[in-house]
Parts: sequence; structure tokens; C-alpha cells
Amino acid sequence: MADSARSAKKRLSDLEPASLAGRTVLVRADFNVPLEDGEVVDDQRIRASLPTVRLLTEAGARVVLLSHLGRPKGKPNPAMSLAPVARRLGALLDTEVHFVPEPSGPPAAEAIGAMTDGDVILLENTRFLAGDAANDRELAEAWAGLGDLFVNDAFGAAHRAHASTSGLAEAVVRRGGEAVAGLLLEEELRYLADALDEPKRPFVAVLGGAKISGKIDVISALLPKVDRLLIGGAMANTFFRAQGLETGASLVEEDRIELADELMNQAADKLVLPLDCVVAAEIEEGAATRTVSRTAIGERDRVIDIGPETRALFIDVLKGARTIVWNGPMGVFEIDAFAEGTIEIARAVAEACDRGALGVIGGGDSGAAAERAGVVDRISHISTGGGASLDLLAGAELPGVASLTDA
Ligand code: ADP
Ligand code: MG
Repeated sequence: MADSARSAKKRLSDLEPASLAGRTVLVRADFNVPLEDGEVVDDQRIRASLPTVRLLTEAGARVVLLSHLGRPKGKPNPAMSLAPVARRLGALLDTEVHFVPEPSGPPAAEAIGAMTDGDVILLENTRFLAGDAANDRELAEAWAGLGDLFVNDAFGAAHRAHASTSGLAEAVVRRGGEAVAGLLLEEELRYLADALDEPKRPFVAVLGGAKISGKIDVISALLPKVDRLLIGGAMANTFFRAQGLETGASLVEEDRIELADELMNQAADKLVLPLDCVVAAEIEEGAATRTVSRTAIGERDRVIDIGPETRALFIDVLKGARTIVWNGPMGVFEIDAFAEGTIEIARAVAEACDRGALGVIGGGDSGAAAERAGVVDRISHISTGGGASLDLLAGAELPGVASLTDA
């Protein structure tokens, strides 16, 4: 029920391109990209916005882009300016993207007044204004007054109720306009929400990363849906402790041991924990590693990866899977010598996709691992949103989606 309501929103792809010509379209994108020395170092999120921007410019719309970058905490901060994004976007689109050095106010209105059909402008970082994160109604109204249609394509910010996301959508709708999902948002929802509602079975989830705490809701929501839930990463340590095992100097969430115990009881045989682990005395490059059974973790050991027996077991389960969701690395994959388990899982997900399974990866670090494994092109979908994808997997309704016009 909640699931169908979630997808029953008007989409940009539902609109006739002819109806877009000459209209000023406000697009909330997610250009929250890493910058170094004033240059974009990873433009994945900018590339992910291109289908929506191109659809609009080719239809003859005037495209006004809004985005946040980083956490400037409501004040202008030159290190978090979107100017480098405007340059990269222009290069990718092969057209000039006019950058407005203010997120709102007269300069934005003037620049929009000077636009012609097919033009693209990008406003400065919306979070330079305190009203964005505060979901200030007046700010949302001011943005809404700049255009005739709102397209939310910022999946990575869809779990936040900010003035430039849900606030703007609501303001546009209050003025009698429409707020629709952009192509990226539509795609994210299709994979993360719709496809998981009726998964082809076996449905296998792989969860890892540092902490259980941020992912409890995901585990609870996925447990009844999946056939198998494979747990790796430091998250597994907390489950080990719930089983009464020694975890040495490993990362453990002491205050979640009881919860891990409850989840294990609830999951019965669905939950698959590592059989063996790679351990080191220190989490640092060049540290000597050993493989031990999960029952033989020493007092001074730190678990840094899943062991070879576990890899074989997980890969075997993934071989038969027809739907896979993966979130969170199997170990401290940032260090090459500790990355083997994570890289092998990335390859196993890609191989399952080659065989026709649906494989979805959520989470920034897991996406980076897929890139390191060189399998990005073989995965059905790699989500551009960390927090938003976790919220969706947990079955939550995203404000950025709920605020759109109903289909
Ligand atoms: P994602 O971004 O894919 O959601 P997380 O942010 O939850 O993933 O977790 C990623 C982090 O977990 C990585 O920085 C990785 O080093 C850490 N991690 C994974 N396994 C371990 C471990 N055994 N011990 C300490 N840290 C770990
Ligand atoms: Mg992360």
C-alpha cells in the first residue's frame, strides 16, 4: 500500500515534451560532489543528472538548476561554491551553463529573465542560506516564484525536508503548479522501491560496513522480505558478541549486542554470519594479517575482512540469487590488503547480474568498492544516494518524493 503510494507520483517522463517548450523549469539536482582545489574530483552525480537536463533543453525548456554542496551551515563559503560544478556540467553538456553566484534574490531573477529557450543556469549552493535546511516557507515561495514547473531529481537529498526539496515542491503545488520526479529520481525509485516490492527469488541482501546502528531499520525491513541476509564488515562483530564469541580489539557496538541477539532470533536461518575472518593487530597499511575461525579471534586481534571460507560461502549464496541488494563493504577496503572480501563480493554481484539477476548497490562506500573492482557497468543499478537509499530500503517515505504531485 505504502509502496504503491510511493511510486504513484507524477514523473517528468509522463509530460509531453512539446508542453515544456519555453517554460522555465526549476530542477533540484544533487550536485553534492567532492571538490579539491576548486575542481570536481568525482563527477558521477553530475553525470547522473544529464538525462533530465538534456530532456528539458532538447524540449526547449529554460532550465534553472538548484543544488546544495557540503554543509556550509547557512553561510556563504567559497570552498563550497557550485562554480566548479557549472564548469563541469557545461563541459559535459557541451553548452554554456550560466552560473549565478547567489542562490536566490535579484541576481537569480535577473538571470532567469535573460534566458532563452534551451538555456541552462545554475544557482549558487542553496545551503548558503540558513532557510534551506530549516525548510523556510518564504524561501521556498521565493524559489517557486521563479518558474512554472518543479522537477525534483535530487535523489541523494530526497530523505531531507528542506526548502529546496520538499518545501519548493509544496510551494509550487500551492501556486497551482506541478512538482514531478526527474529521470534519475524515477530510476532510483524503480530499482530501490518498486523492484524490491516483488523481488524475483531467491532474494539475497548483503550488509556490511562499520555499524549496525545506522542500518537497524534496513535490517528489520529486509529480514521479512529476503531469503538470505549475509552479514560482513564490522557489523558482524556485534553479532559475534551476541553469540558469546571473543572479538578482541575489533570494532564492536557494545550497546547493540542485545539488539543483534534479537535480530538473530527473529531471523532464524536467514541470517548468515562469517565463518572466518582476516585479522590484524593494527588497521594500517602493511600490517601483518592472519586468517582465523570466528571462534578463534584473539584478544589483540582486529577483524578487518571476511575470511576465504566466508567468501566462498557468500559467493555460493549469491550464485543462485535472482535479486541482490548490497550495502556496506565486507572489511576495511580502503586498505588494499584488507579489500579482498569486498572486491570478491562486488565481482560476485556483477556475475549474478551477468546471468540476469537484478543487482542493486546502495551506499557511497559500496559504490566506491564496485568501482575499485571494475564492475560498475555490469551492475543493474548503483544508487547515487547514501542516506536516501538506506531510508528507502528501510521502507520509509522520502519527503522529496511524498511532496510531488500525485500521478
Ligand atoms: P556504505 O557507505 O557503503 O553505506 P558504510 O559507510 O556503512 O558503507 O561503511 C563503510 C566503512 O566501514 C568503511 O570505511 C570500512 O572501512 C568500514 N569497515 C568495514 N569493515 C570493517 C571492520 N571489520 N572494521 C572496521 N571498519 C570496517
Ligand atoms: Mg559510507
